[in-house]
Amino acid sequence: MSKNTLGLEQQVHDYLLSVSLREPDQLRQLREETARHPHGIMQISPEQGQFMALLIQLLGATKTLEIGVFTGYSSLSVALALPPNGKIIACDVSEEYTSIARRYWQAAGVADKIDLRIAPALTTLDQLLATGQAGTFDFAFIDADKYNYLAYYEKALELIRPGGLIAIDNVLWSGQVANPQVQDHSTQAIRAFNEKLHHDERVSLSMVPIADGLTLALKRP
Ligand code: CA
Repeated sequence: MSKNTLGLEQQVHDYLLSVSLREPDQLRQLREETARHPHGIMQISPEQGQFMALLIQLLGATKTLEIGVFTGYSSLSVALALPPNGKIIACDVSEEYTSIARRYWQAAGVADKIDLRIAPALTTLDQLLATGQAGTFDFAFIDADKYNYLAYYEKALELIRPGGLIAIDNVLWSGQVANPQVQDHSTQAIRAFNEKLHHDERVSLSMVPIADGLTLALKRP
């Protein structure tokens, strides 16, 4: 799904990594462990992790949101890029997967930056809104069940500040979104999401064909 950048020839992808990847040891070890996991394909690619770390620096982010943690590669990439006072509120429903994430957050010395909430993400996002945290986040990464993407996006848009960024993963869905023969629920949900964002004037938009497709939506003032 997102281990390599979609459509990029292996030889070119290898070259890209060989001349640009700067992957800290803890991230490399986590990637290798996750690759052996039955759902290892759900992990983001290393060049995407590095890209997101760069976005965090570009934004000067200190407070971020992650919807869908899995084994923690993206949250670890972001946490390492955040300043010492930086914070991630991380949402996931799986104790099992996130126990791997916790182990690597600890080993990398960033566990105190990450506030993991084990609950349905919509519940956590509603709690954040109910406790007056609208407009206080600099960045949000959405990478959870595709059916709820639009709902996650709407709440994330309320939670980030004007000028803050939402990054949404898997928007090219292994190319299946472009194949009209494919009509399963997840594919339909991603298509509907992409179409909605195309015309959403509340954000500036770019769909970046890195990994499995990453949409960037910058909240307009
Ligand atoms: Ca993903």
